[in-house]
Amino acid sequence: MIDEALIAELEKIAEPGPLMAELERRFPKRMAIGTSGQLTGCALIDLAVRAKIPPRVFTIDTLRLFHETYELFEALEKRYPIRIERFTPAPKDLDPMVKQHGEYLFFDSKEKQELCCHVRKVLPNERALDTVDVWITGLRADQSKARSQAKRFEIIQHSQPPVGLRPVLKVAPLVGWTEQKVRDYLKVNKVPVHELLDKKLQGGFYYESLGCIICTTPIGPNEPRRAGRWRWFNSQNGDKECGLHLPSPDKP
Ligand code: SF4
Repeated sequence: MIDEALIAELEKIAEPGPLMAELERRFPKRMAIGTSGQLTGCALIDLAVRAKIPPRVFTIDTLRLFHETYELFEALEKRYPIRIERFTPAPKDLDPMVKQHGEYLFFDSKEKQELCCHVRKVLPNERALDTVDVWITGLRADQSKARSQAKRFEIIQHSQPPVGLRPVLKVAPLVGWTEQKVRDYLKVNKVPVHELLDKKLQGGFYYESLGCIICTTPIGPNEPRRAGRWRWFNSQNGDKECGLHLPSPDKP
């Protein structure tokens, strides 16, 4: 059962590999790592495989990802005994949005960017969550101000017609890891990583994280980590999220 008592028991397992192994034992094939190809997701896959699970892995394919992201997914599938399940936007949601607002609606306003993220990311993520009891995420507290309060365990109420609301355990096994710790782990264990996350660009610019191709730009040495996302909104909102990791409505 997914409740606070379960969390209290899981809190005793500090290491991410054994934690995921225990979750898989309790919820066979109902635990999955959600990744968009960031460093932490790659580390989680490697940790899970080393813990001899091997894990279910899913990604939200917005159909607007960098081609290097698709190449990374292929490299991960070659290296590990996994198949990355792709959840894409449903045509019934995507087509009316594009017809009404155009392909590039996210440039128009924050509301339209959020609508696009809702259709291309949040709704497919809901379909992915329909298939799990435990959602493993790569959230880390050092990624942004909004994520600094991220917890290792959170019970979210997932709405799944016709079942209704049911609890899903959202777990961030590496929430306390720094980016350097993740990078060190990936290097030591020779884990495939996103080509663009390793690239140093002119003027000290670099990609801090990668989302959809148009909405993601590199950041400069003194910019906040999320500054490269939807850069045209920087003067309005420094803490930008796509909606996947916003707090549950029933949580403070
Ligand atoms: S990141 Fe941009 S293209 Fe991707 S879903 Fe959000 S607004 Fe749409």
